[in-house]
Amino acid sequence: MAVEVKFWGVRGSIACPTPDHMIYGGNTSCIEVSNGPNRLILDAGTGLRALGQNLMQRGETSGILLLTHTHWDHICGFPFFTPFYLPGHKFRVMAGHLSDRGGVRQVLASQMAAPTFPVPLAALKADMDYVDFRAGDTLTDLYPGLVVRSGALKHPDGATGYRLEWDGKIVCYVTDTEHQPGQLDQSVIDLISGADLVIYDCTYTDENFAPKVGWGHSTWQQGVRLCQAAGARQLAIFHHDPENTDPAMARIEAEAKQAWAGCLVARDEMTLVL
Ligand SMILES: [Zn+2]
Ligand SMILES: [Zn+2]
Repeated sequence: MAVEVKFWGVRGSIACPTPDHMIYGGNTSCIEVSNGPNRLILDAGTGLRALGQNLMQRGETSGILLLTHTHWDHICGFPFFTPFYLPGHKFRVMAGHLSDRGGVRQVLASQMAAPTFPVPLAALKADMDYVDFRAGDTLTDLYPGLVVRSGALKHPDGATGYRLEWDGKIVCYVTDTEHQPGQLDQSVIDLISGADLVIYDCTYTDENFAPKVGWGHSTWQQGVRLCQAAGARQLAIFHHDPENTDPAMARIEAEAKQAWAGCLVARDEMTLVL
């Protein structure tokens, strides 16, 4: 079986579905990683809605959602994932940063509480399982042939990076995270070592990073440096700044590919087969 990675949302911070963002896409973070009938969903940004429609068309009824963290752009698709409302469907929702903050179920319930949302979490009719772990844990009981390693990222309120080792392929998902200019984060290098694909927080560029220090994000140039130091094969530039319209993204894509042939820029509904 091949491991397939499909990007359903590639933007950071807030959805931006304007005519100037149609080529690269305006949905926020959501990625489907599948291996035959088994599927992980990475984050629940606005891209999750379209994934839900797609799963219903395909007759798929289950999955495991791994959240990096629970900032809006990574969870605002959660209440709009239709399969959650359907009896006979089965999902597990996992997060690594909330054990000391009430747990993932409570945080998602507060997201869907009045007066900011009209449908409560209790309205979900699928078989739902909410699991908290601690960033740094290794998860081995998700699917046969899959080992998920995790690590804490540097981000306000915490975030969890993931390394998926699945039937000989390694996919890493490292967003949202901030780097120190001039330094390589050894914990990120360890997480992405030898990966086939690294999906990394490339919100900014080295050129415009200085005023954004403390905001919890990184740059595509840092992604290249980390991948090269870690012996990773491919960098998917991800979590695009909504300020970057299609022409700006095209310039980043050209520069990044010039800097390192292993770069690609993630777009909404792009599929990679590993
Ligand atoms: Zn984000
Ligand atoms: Zn965030």
